[in-house]
Amino acid sequence: MSSLIVKNALIVTQDKDRRIIKGDILVEDNLIVQVGKVTGDADEVIEAGGDIVMPGMVNTHSHIAMSVMKGVADDVPFGKFLDKVFAIDSDRQEKDLLAGAKLGAMEMLLSGTTTFVDMYYSEDIIAKAVQQAGLRGVLCWAVLDVQFTTQKGVPLDNCKRFFAEHKDQERIYPGIGLQGVYVCSTETFQASEEFSRSSGALMHFHLSETRKEVYDHKDKTGKRPADYLESIGVLSDRCLAAHSAWLTINEVKALGRNGCSIATCPVSNMKLATGGVAPIPEMMMNGVNVSVGTDGSTTNNSLDMFGEMKMLALLQKSYRWDPTILPAQQVLDLVTLNGAKAVHLEMEIGSIEVGKKADMVILDGKAPNLRPLLPDNVVSNIVYCGNAGNVKTVLCDGKAVVRDRHVRTMDQKKVLEESEPALISLRKGH
Ligand SMILES: [Zn+2]
Repeated sequence: MSSLIVKNALIVTQDKDRRIIKGDILVEDNLIVQVGKVTGDADEVIEAGGDIVMPGMVNTHSHIAMSVMKGVADDVPFGKFLDKVFAIDSDRQEKDLLAGAKLGAMEMLLSGTTTFVDMYYSEDIIAKAVQQAGLRGVLCWAVLDVQFTTQKGVPLDNCKRFFAEHKDQERIYPGIGLQGVYVCSTETFQASEEFSRSSGALMHFHLSETRKEVYDHKDKTGKRPADYLESIGVLSDRCLAAHSAWLTINEVKALGRNGCSIATCPVSNMKLATGGVAPIPEMMMNGVNVSVGTDGSTTNNSLDMFGEMKMLALLQKSYRWDPTILPAQQVLDLVTLNGAKAVHLEMEIGSIEVGKKADMVILDGKAPNLRPLLPDNVVSNIVYCGNAGNVKTVLCDGKAVVRDRHVRTMDQKKVLEESEPALISLRKGH
């Protein structure tokens, strides 16, 4: 058994009472076994010296292999953006996919994310980066109709194979990544739902990201996307819908009554200027579990959940002319507890409590942007003042994968050096 103590911290527990505790945390193997005053010794002692400890964040929508595609399609109209990204994406090589996944994994660790949901083809390559980094990855293999894909064979069969090969691997949770109603037929959705029901795999999909997508689908089927998905019987609490910006109140209610989760991606939506602001307050009122995702590095272009928290809160407040919407505590809940629930890991992660897995982030309590720092302003400071640069140390599954801003699990220099050749090679011919 290995043990680790974090000493003298300001602990943002995110427990039922949202307690803020000044004290220590004892970790044995991968579990939190004591929160409060810890006496005695351990294999590894981290002296926090007043630093903030918060639960590792959960990013519920990303495409991390695209991390080496930064800047390839910025500042262009949405149609051109899609053409460019699809063209590059369809002939990527294994080597640059891995380089992208490693770079993305490293960026996430260094910005305080310990669990992420990914949607892409070649999740087997991304799984390698996740294993090496020591992160938790909910890896959803891209599923779409055969006529729209560049994958060899049938995408759902590839997804099932990936699931069988990875379901017992530590920190890997294989899932189904349906690209969206525009490339997935009723049959593809229903066959995926059947597989999800029998296996328990998460059903992750893009939903109503753009107005065009909604109107095209309505022209084709007579129904808006979320209404349609309910009518074909595929909505359940195994569903995590990304974006979900262009929804009617009836669609919000449909997601709520079926127990669905959504991943709102405010930065991605704003950068692409698709014009939609997700109806977050209505979702919360109607029982939808709201979580937060960054989306990929061609649309954000960052995997930083601190940026996402602040942007989400400000966008919602500004859009509704109402500063009381999404207070700091609620925003922090979305990226911790709600994120954990969205991937069905709420019993294991999302808060710092005895019995949960030790996924925790230590923020620099000496950083001027986080001061003055008191128990009653720490949550506000995390949400409105915090940034990725404040992350000092990260524990995932009980292991200190980042210590004093150094990634222990990866060759940091090599990962960085591999990123430019990957970008240059994927740009060729496009
Ligand atoms: Zn996406």
